[in-house]
Parts: sequence; C-alpha cells; structure tokens
Amino acid sequence: MKRIGVLTSGGDAPGMNAAVRSVVRTALASGAEVYAIYEGYQGMVEGGNCIRPMQWGNVGGILHKGGTIIGTARCAEFRERSGRLLAARNLVHNGIDSLVVIGGDGSLTGSLIFQDEWPSLIEELVQKGDILPETAELHPNLSIAGIVGSIDNDVCDTDMTLGADTALHRIVDAVDAIADTAASHQRAFVIEVMGRKCGYLALMSGIATAADWVLIPEAPPNLDNWEDKMCEVLSQGRQIGRRDSIVIVAEGAQDLHGKPISCDHVRHVLTDRLGEDARVTILGHVQRGGSPTAFDRNLGTMSGATAVDALLAHDEDIPLSSLVAIQSNRFVLTDLRTSLEKTWAVREAVTNQDFDTAMTLRGQGYKEAFKMLRTLVRAQPHVVPADKKRYRLGVINAGAPAPGMNTAVRAAVRLAVDKGHTVIGFQNGFRGLISGDGKELKWMDVNGWAHVGGSFLGTSRHNLEGRDYYTIARTIEEFQLDGLVVVGGWSGYQAVLQLHQQRQNFPAFEIPIVCTPASIDNDLAGADFCVGSDTALNNIVDALDKIKQSAVASRRAFVVEVMGNNSGYLALMSALASGAERVYLPEEGINMQDLLADINMLVTGFKQGKKLGVILRSERANETYTTNFISSLFEEEGGDAFDVRQAILGHIQQGGNPSPFDRIQATRFASKCVAYLEEQLDRDSVVSACVGMIDGRYAFTPFEDLPRQIDRKNGRPRHQWWLGLRPVARVLAQPSPDFRILERDDRR
Ligand code: ADP
Repeated sequence: MKRIGVLTSGGDAPGMNAAVRSVVRTALASGAEVYAIYEGYQGMVEGGNCIRPMQWGNVGGILHKGGTIIGTARCAEFRERSGRLLAARNLVHNGIDSLVVIGGDGSLTGSLIFQDEWPSLIEELVQKGDILPETAELHPNLSIAGIVGSIDNDVCDTDMTLGADTALHRIVDAVDAIADTAASHQRAFVIEVMGRKCGYLALMSGIATAADWVLIPEAPPNLDNWEDKMCEVLSQGRQIGRRDSIVIVAEGAQDLHGKPISCDHVRHVLTDRLGEDARVTILGHVQRGGSPTAFDRNLGTMSGATAVDALLAHDEDIPLSSLVAIQSNRFVLTDLRTSLEKTWAVREAVTNQDFDTAMTLRGQGYKEAFKMLRTLVRAQPHVVPADKKRYRLGVINAGAPAPGMNTAVRAAVRLAVDKGHTVIGFQNGFRGLISGDGKELKWMDVNGWAHVGGSFLGTSRHNLEGRDYYTIARTIEEFQLDGLVVVGGWSGYQAVLQLHQQRQNFPAFEIPIVCTPASIDNDLAGADFCVGSDTALNNIVDALDKIKQSAVASRRAFVVEVMGNNSGYLALMSALASGAERVYLPEEGINMQDLLADINMLVTGFKQGKKLGVILRSERANETYTTNFISSLFEEEGGDAFDVRQAILGHIQQGGNPSPFDRIQATRFASKCVAYLEEQLDRDSVVSACVGMIDGRYAFTPFEDLPRQIDRKNGRPRHQWWLGLRPVARVLAQPSPDFRILERDDRR
C-alpha cells in the first residue's frame, strides 16, 4: 500500500489546513495511507512521534482555522546533508517515499535538494547499517508534489499561492480602517506590507484601497528625485480635497540604485516637505493570521487533491517532483525544478536591480496592473493632446446590486477622463436612461468610491418595453453619447441585447455598448468570474463558520439556503470552502432518492461520532423540495440521531464592502471596457460586447454571439467551469473513507 507523507514548512499561510485535510482525505479515499510529519522538516529530522498516521477524523473541523494544525518550523539541520540523512532514515523507517510539501519557495527548494540526494542518502544508510538493503530497494526514489504556501504570491507558473488572497483581505481591511481615521484627522499614513522581493501584496492592496502612492521592489520610481514627484501628487490631492493620504510600502521597496526605501524615510519626507501629520503603521504578522478566505480554502483543497492524485498516478509523464499550480482556474502540474528556476530568476533580477527583467518575468497582468495603478493614484488626469479624439461615454449600473459596482464605475470614470473623454453617470440603471437622469462625473466625483459596497449610481432591474426604446434613444441623442458602459448582471445584459436588436428601428442605438459582468450569482456567459461573487462567497462562508460554531454541544444538522438564482456557483463553492456534507444545486436538481440517501449519510455520520452536519441548498435547486420541506423531512427521518435547524441567509450575501478580488477585477474590467470603447470609436465600429476573463484571458464576447452561449431554458451560461470541482467536494465531505456516496446516476 502506498504511503504518503504530508508536511507544512517555512512561514505559515492561511489555507494550509485545507490542503492538509484534502491530502489526508483524498489519500485515504484512494486507498493509500497518509502520515503527517509534524513541525515541517524539523519533525522529519527528529522522527519518532513527529511522524504519525492520519485518519479521516483527524482533519475534521479545520477548514476555517488559520495557520497549520500539523505545525511548521524553520530547520537549520535540514540545510545540511547530515540533517537530511536523518530525515531520509526516518522516512524510510516509516515506509514513506512520497511527500506532499506545503511551503514557500525555500521549503520547496529544500525538497528538491533532498530528492536529488535521496539515492545517495539511502546508500549511505545501508552502509551504516541503519536500513536493510531489501528495505532500500523498496524506496529507490523520493517523489514530491509541492504546494506553494506563501502569502507573497511570489512563485512562478502558478496564478496564486496559498494564503495570498487571505493576506490581501487582512491588508485591505486594515487599510480601509486606517483610511477612515486618516480622513477624519486629515492625516497621512505610511503603511508597510509584507513582500521582500515581491510587490504583489502592495500593488494589489494599492489598487483595492485606492491608495495614493505605492512602492514595490520590482518597479522603483524611475527618478532619482522620486520624493519630489510623490510630494507633488500628494499635495495636489490635498488641494483638490482629498482628506486622507495613504502610501503603501512593500517591505522590500527600493530605489533605482537598490537602496531600501523605509516607511520612516517616507514619513520624514511627508512631514518635512509637506508639513503632513504623517504616521507609520507596520502591519506585520497580522497579514499571515486569521481564518482563510473562501478562495484560499478552495485553493488548498483542490491543490491537496491534485497533489495526491499526482503521487498515486503511475504516469511516467508526471515528473518525480511536480508543483501543483493553478492556471486560469485549472489545477495543473508543472515541473517543480523549472518553476523554481523561474522564481529564482525573478528574485535575482530584483536583487540586481534589473527591473525590466523582473517586471517582464512577473507577467503581463502584473505590468498592466502597475500601469493602471499609476493612473488611478493621480490627483488629476493627464493633459491630453489637443488633437486626440474625445468621446462622450455614459455609465450605468444595472440589475441586482453587486459589491464592486462602485469600484468599476470609479475606475471607468477616472480612466476615461484621463484619456480626455467626458463621462455621464445615469441614475438607477436603465430607468435613468429612460428618464434622462444623467450627470457628468468628474475625477473627484468618484473619490472614495473604490471600497464601498452597493451602488452610488443606483441600480434596478427593468424590462425594456415599447416606449422605453424611444425615450432611451432620445437620451442618447440629448447627451450626445458615443458609447455606453453597463456594469451589471443578467437583466442589464438582456436590456443591452434588446437595444442591440432594436438598432434597425432606432439609429441612436448604433453606438458601442460594453458590459462589465457584475452579479453575485456568477451566472453570466462570457465571464468565468463576475464582480461581486467573491464577496458574496466570503459572506456565506463567514456565516457558515458562525452557524457551525453555534452547535458545539449537540448533534445537529443545519439546512442552509444560499442565493445564486439559477446558478449553483455560490452553493458549490461555499460547500467546498466550509466542508458541507451535501450541496443541492439547480444544475442537478433534487429528488426523493437523493434526500433519502443523504438522510442515511447523516445518520451514519452522527452514529460514528459526528457532531455537526451542514446541508447547503441553492435557492432554486428544486421548486418542491424547499428548504423548509427538507428541514422537516430530515428532522422527522433523523429520529434520535440528530436534530435539524434551518437558516436562510438572505440579503446579507449581497451586502458589505467588496472583497479585494472583486475590487481588483472591477478595476481591471473597467480599464478594459474604456479601452474597448475607445478602440471601437476610433475605428468607427459599433460592436457591442461584454468583457470577461475566460480561461485566464481577458476576452470580449460580442453581443451577437452571446445568445449561443446561454442556456435560455434554465437561465444560465451553457459552460460553467466550476462544475468540474464537484467530485472533490463530494469525496471530501463523506463521513468516512469507506462510506460510498452513491453517484447521482446510481441512485436513480
Ligand atoms: P519558506 O518555505 O516559507 O520560503 P524558508 O526559506 O525559511 O521558508 O524555508 C523553510 C525551511 O526549508 C528551512 O528552514 C529549511 O529547513 C528548508 N530549506 C530552505 N531552503 C533550503 C535549502 N536550500 N536546502 C535545504 N533546505 C532548505
């Protein structure tokens, strides 16, 4: 029987527990044995009680916990061959020659060295009589699957590392809070965030919080007198009415010559030259701690399952050491050595002040984000050459409110005004276009919009009919709109489609219209992610954590209803992130056999000692089997085994300030939309389209192609990438490895 070891090493990162849980359960469900190596490489070197077998129940109830339950450490002995010799001996004594290493690039580098040396270490152990030759023959090689646990997002070939999203949440929450006090006192704050060689956290938190200046290691200000430039921008900001000034400094920020830029230096500059009341806040270890976000839990879970699959597959194409990476929402394996070599190359470029290479190696998205930030932080737009074409663009929110709508409008206004265009904001979605309720939005009109949930412009669901077309045409003519940006959901898309179809009757509609997908339900064709859905997902997961905590002493099952319209995205992703026992999706429906099988599963689980069960029901999973019905059925059929409570989460899911990811997406989408309209208008083209991220790339789907991508009968996109995550969710939620969850088709 295959035996896998799992360890967490180096700096801890939120989401490591999800990865450990997933490694343990996936291995056990696949018939393998799994051992935890406590305290990272230290435990491997020490052996003994530090290496222990894990059972299904050992990893229950840990998804919401920050840090790592199996401990982590930095281990100097493992850096020496003598330490690694002890580690090899301890592994072989425990019959382990496959490892899932969850750690930063240091830990993964260590694992590569260990693997390279393995055959010689084994030989030495045989010579010393520590292991028998026949035992050595059983373990000729060491296989490694690496998962990057690092809040810095500093490893190449993977879009995100475990913990980075949570760290960004911690930073953004802190900066939002500091901005409130800064604005009250008209103070400046200089905030240091982690990132010695990588500015990811500083850059992204700068975009998400609308900071006024950001300093990152890979792209120092390209002037020797950068302090003057910074002071100029900040003092201009004061003059036009900004009450707060926020400067975000990455730990490893440096100037053009590699001289570190400290927060204290920035504070002195602001105090001495501008007379600012400036304070420094070093966020420090707060950034590492706390409960992981929904994204990090799911990243950990999917990475853990992928790592075990790689180690158990007898596939010669899988390298002996592989890295589990997420690329465009897909979990893939890369060659660990190659990915680390690229990572080292970026570090080296940053250290050697080869900034062009560093930025190029970080990738196009990073470069674009930095460029966008530099425009958004400005106190005033650039001066536009007189001969540049200028357009009049309308902007509206449409459909149900989604957190991030304000962020998108702010970015669209600033980025368009920066190019010399005029932007008119219309109130209350298409109703404002119908009534002609529009007003020019200037640079400072959208100040303070980036982090606030809801919709300042107002949004509504409105089905266009008869006279509406005429009045909208009149508004377009009256305001001389050349193009329109719609930030919204399904009803907004439908309205745009209708305008598109009415072009023959109303020449005014011959303008390019571009949509930014904004819907908590993540149910729009042409986009893998809609703005607002990440916030809603985190709202749900937070609520589920609280609900679970309320039931410490009893054997209780909760039936929880979540939003989602006709899409099960929120339900499935929150089930995966909270470890829910079962999830009912509109894509699958519910039938009586399902319900009876699930009661059976719950009864078995509770009899085996389970204290708590969570069943998630997406609001439209089935019209007949309502949340109320399911709760009553479970209560009745569960008998003495458990009791049942129900919770309908409701509008709490739609509210709150947007998450960092939603803010960043909203800003990026808005930037793409403005560029798209400019390009269409410059070319005299009037193709309307919606922007989205598809398979990791920004794409515009023309409205003419949209109907083909929509499953009209069911009111959702035909392709929903996230449905592919269902098997892992199902396996991990079982009460035990030997409990066979019947596949839907078996049940029928
Ligand atoms: P992180 O994994 O978070 O980058 P470190 O760089 O501190 O953190 O590495 C964690 C541990 O991994 C180290 O304490 C050491 O035991 C091991 N390690 C790191 N680099 C090497 C190396 N080059 N050779 C051997 N072991 C290493």
